Amino acid sequence: MGGGINGLASAWTLVRKGYRVSLFDQGPIPNPVASSFDEHRITRHAYGPMHAYAERMPQAFALWDQLFDDIGARHLEAMPMIAFEREDTGWIGPSLDDLGAMGVGWRELDPAQFSAEHPLIRTDGVTRAVELSGSGMLFPSRIVTDLVVHLAAQGVRFYPHTKVEEIGFETGRVRAGGMVHVGDHVIIAAGAWVNNLLPDTTGELVPSRQTVVFLAPPPELAALWSRAPIYLDLDAETGTYVLPPRPGTRLKIGDHRFSRTGDPDAPRIASEDEVANLIKAGHLAFTDFERYTVLERKACYYTVTEDEHFVIRPAGSRATLLSACSGHGFKLAPQSAAEAVALVERAL
Ligand SMILES: Cc1cc2nc3c(=O)[nH]c(=O)nc-3n(C[C@H](O)[C@H](O)[C@H](O)COP(=O)(O)OP(=O)(O)OC[C@H]3O[C@@H](n4cnc5c(N)ncnc54)[C@H](O)[C@@H]3O)c2cc1C
Repeated sequence: MGGGINGLASAWTLVRKGYRVSLFDQGPIPNPVASSFDEHRITRHAYGPMHAYAERMPQAFALWDQLFDDIGARHLEAMPMIAFEREDTGWIGPSLDDLGAMGVGWRELDPAQFSAEHPLIRTDGVTRAVELSGSGMLFPSRIVTDLVVHLAAQGVRFYPHTKVEEIGFETGRVRAGGMVHVGDHVIIAAGAWVNNLLPDTTGELVPSRQTVVFLAPPPELAALWSRAPIYLDLDAETGTYVLPPRPGTRLKIGDHRFSRTGDPDAPRIASEDEVANLIKAGHLAFTDFERYTVLERKACYYTVTEDEHFVIRPAGSRATLLSACSGHGFKLAPQSAAEAVALVERAL
């Protein structure tokens, strides 16, 4: 259940192994309010001190290659990511260690070089900047749309606008849209709505409302932005990431600090208050930020755990819970799905 990337990647993994799959979503499939429906998501090998994420990336990239082969489109653009800080954040050193261990390249940019090569960014006060290889942008709305088309052609039965009301954790039964469906096993990939179906997870899996802003740069900077890399401002106070525009996508900035509050059924237009921090960060990070036009302010949800570990575990003898618990759940979805399906197979 769940037509986001984790539900779809689970269906993809199961179909590849020859299982029959039904997929339920409370909304359309794909669902525009799912965390998985956006213009871009970052993928990379570097995660600062969170080595467990870095360790997973070589396999994650390999699984994406397989998935793109199956859907017949490569919705990933490789591009460098520039990480910069104004004081020692403890992020860059461990990241470079991991990249070194994985054989992924990087380049230190001294402040003068950073300023010369990145005129879009306000470099005053920046104490360290590095350019990291092995990163890029995934295009999620295209990925989930093509996955749905591919899976439908493989015989997956889709149940859109069909809310799952009850799960038989020991029976494999699902009550959804007033009907009972019987399966061998249920994978629960409900994103930020997980607490509704599994009340025991409340407090452990916490929905977090996150704000992003889509921007149009001033006209004379448009050409520079069309070639710009991903930027990660590591500053503890501003803490933003910047995704450059590419064909079919807009320039976006987002806040990578967790709000740990909010209800995923609440309206998705971010308030002026919610974007205030991002705008402040924009002024700190971009040159001429006052000349950028805000095109959209959007709120989106993911689930977080205290230390950002993902939860992939049995939820009964006939159900498995798959919950990505940080802002890294998209890129890791094929791998999380592989882990969930391994649990399903163990239970069958
Ligand atoms: C602002 C933002 C930026 C992010 N940036 C990145 C990034 O750069 N890189 C990265 O890898 N990840 C990123 N993420 C995280 C990533 O997008 C999510 O972890 C991932 O999309 C979660 O996918 P999911 O399938 O678990 O959940 P979702 O995509 O939310 O899907 C869950 C689905 O379950 C359905 N559902 C829930 N309850 C029911 C029910 N009872 N019955 C039927 N259907 C139900 C919902 O309708 C929904 O469609 C970001 C997330 C946000 C919000």
